[in-house]
Amino acid sequence: MRKLIVQKYGGSSLANPERIKNVARRVAGYRKNGHELVVVVSALGDTTDELIELAAKISRNPPEREMDMLLSTGEQISVALLAMAIHELGYGAISLTGSQVGIITDTAHTKARIVKIEADKIHQELKRGKIVIVAGFQGMTPQADITTLGRGGSDLTAVALAQTLRADECEIYTDVEGVYTTDPRVEQKARKLGEITYDEMLEMASLGAQVMQARSIEVAKKFDVPIHVRSSFSDKSGTMIIREVKNMEDVLVTGITLNKNESKITICNVPDRPGIAAKIFNQLAEGGINVDMIVQNVSHTRQTDISFTVPKPDAARAVKLTRKGAREIGELEVLQDDDISRVSIVGVGMKTHSGVAAKMFETLAKEKINIEMISTSEISISCIIKKKFSETAVRALHAQFGLDKGK
Ligand code: ADP
Ligand code: ASP
Ligand code: MG
Repeated sequence: MRKLIVQKYGGSSLANPERIKNVARRVAGYRKNGHELVVVVSALGDTTDELIELAAKISRNPPEREMDMLLSTGEQISVALLAMAIHELGYGAISLTGSQVGIITDTAHTKARIVKIEADKIHQELKRGKIVIVAGFQGMTPQADITTLGRGGSDLTAVALAQTLRADECEIYTDVEGVYTTDPRVEQKARKLGEITYDEMLEMASLGAQVMQARSIEVAKKFDVPIHVRSSFSDKSGTMIIREVKNMEDVLVTGITLNKNESKITICNVPDRPGIAAKIFNQLAEGGINVDMIVQNVSHTRQTDISFTVPKPDAARAVKLTRKGAREIGELEVLQDDDISRVSIVGVGMKTHSGVAAKMFETLAKEKINIEMISTSEISISCIIKKKFSETAVRALHAQFGLDKGK
């Protein structure tokens, strides 16, 4: 059967000319079998990180519009090279940027949202028999300014295109064989999952599992787009991300995540009276900072500490804003701690089982790991711990919740 397939290849799958040729062979193979292909690509290897570093050498606070202009060049290189590699194999291909496709976004530079996709151009090229190569991670505002969709945003481009084109399949090709019970680079005993629900994948992605961008899963869930995450280096089938899986409530914990990319901010000796938290968090909200875990104790001495976490790239600005708020309250001390990480367990089974948190805390205690902060959602529990214990914590929890390979 002739299918319309959207495939996305990540940066590591395109890191050098040999790998680009490998992707071209793969794509050509599908075309040879009669399928129509729309291929979304990321920037080669670590290009996006390198461009960010380059910008930092020029400006400490570059305008976000110009950042988008810069970062979008990474994906433009990829589309052209992949199209050339496919031509070499004797197949017709055409490369398109986000704006050429008509991926229209809002104006929130560096984290823009897709408003609509005008797919006419893609349909025309497919009709001509072309393989269409689309630059991931980028779009254009109605005023024709280039935007990007947040880190890992090529996943979102692929899912949104699969939805718009009503594709038969949406495949995300990466450098591991699918979604694992935890990052296989941290725990070799991690197991590949045959399938995982949107809810669990969204939670894992939000809590640090890099393999899929969280927003792409939100969109997939909203429109019911099944995603197949698999390796660009093998033909094995990978992990299906879908609405429901069999016996989903029987499994207590599906996955474990680690996030080393947060900072903890503490305001010391805060007077215990109404309105203080509101003042401080209003300042942060106005600065557009996403505050995550918050811990405040009721105090017996009329004074208490408030701690919260923010994404590391926002930490310096968050401290500045917090100090401003703290000065208005009194000369309160504000501390920043980058030496932390967040380890989380995720599973829909938690909704219907008790004792999961106790088991997590006990496991960390056995490893003599102190828990600095705790937060929970319906399907996850997170602990902030000292960074040096990150890997030990992941491995201990992975074993304790029965996730090790061969178990
Ligand atoms: P790409 O360049 O293909 O977009 P990413 O680096 O964004 O790839 O994502 C793939 C990486 O995600 C893997 O190399 C792996 O180290 C990491 N990862 C973290 N958690 C998981 C997990 N639970 N399952 C699979 N990979 C994970
Ligand atoms: N190149 C972008 C990034 O590194 C987008 C992506 O890879 O999905 O974040
Ligand atoms: Mg990625």
